[in-house]
Amino acid sequence: MRLDDLDPSSNAQDLGRGGGGGGGGLGGLLGLLPLLMGRKLGCGTIVIIAIIGFFIFSGGGGLGLSGGDGPGRPATGGSAETYDTQAELFSGRVLASTEQTWAQLLPGYKPAKLYFYDQNNQSGCGAAQAAMGPFYCPTDQGIYLDTSFFNQMEQQMGAGGDFAQAYVIAHEVGHHIQKLTGIADDVRQRQARVSQEEGNQLQVRMELQADCYAGVWAGQNRDRLEPGDVEEGMTAAHAIGDDTLMREAGKRPVESMFTHGTSEQRMRWLQRGMQSGDPKQCDTFAAQSL
Ligand SMILES: [Zn+2]
Repeated sequence: MRLDDLDPSSNAQDLGRGGGGGGGGLGGLLGLLPLLMGRKLGCGTIVIIAIIGFFIFSGGGGLGLSGGDGPGRPATGGSAETYDTQAELFSGRVLASTEQTWAQLLPGYKPAKLYFYDQNNQSGCGAAQAAMGPFYCPTDQGIYLDTSFFNQMEQQMGAGGDFAQAYVIAHEVGHHIQKLTGIADDVRQRQARVSQEEGNQLQVRMELQADCYAGVWAGQNRDRLEPGDVEEGMTAAHAIGDDTLMREAGKRPVESMFTHGTSEQRMRWLQRGMQSGDPKQCDTFAAQSL
């Protein structure tokens, strides 16, 4: 994707290396890891964390690889050098582009913050563990990103390329849109009144809508797409489908535990957003079939 003419967003902050802290939130749950872990390491580790996410799901807006959304201290810290790697610079440009696009689509749009984090940083949603994968925290309206996740996507999930990375960020921005429109709060309230299984079904619709919004951003910036970008997006959407992640973890996919949608659904909604460039096409809550 061609974004080099854009200045990176001024809404990013590097949280630097976290000192101490940790422990709470998901961090504590990582102790369960050996119990749940099969023979697989590496990608399996992420996948297991995703599975843990299914169990402790509480409505957070991760990409499919995180489940944390507990109480925690607000993010603090930061360093003067916001963009100190190419991956961070690219992420900042993606964010800047999403800001331009959504300012046009959503009057009064207020941008999300992008926090580059490392192990042991805190977020408004609890410990931001590097292994958790990127996530959106509604409490502080921040997107938390450890760019080493991009390497994991490429090397362990076969989902490389700059557009795969852009999709990850645009998906989290999609959750920010849901926060701004009130959909996120509405869903959270409905989830509190229904069973875990119905709550998961609502979450799937949330996640697929975020995928669709990511597609809308791409569709609105069609002129910046390069050959191969659409395929990179589709490959990434496939790689982080619930059924694929569970299979990769050596588990039989169980639909009632899905929180992000199948690979096929994620690809379909990303594509729907891309082709239309229209957020109105992203009403996953009204859709009869996903
Ligand atoms: Zn998500």
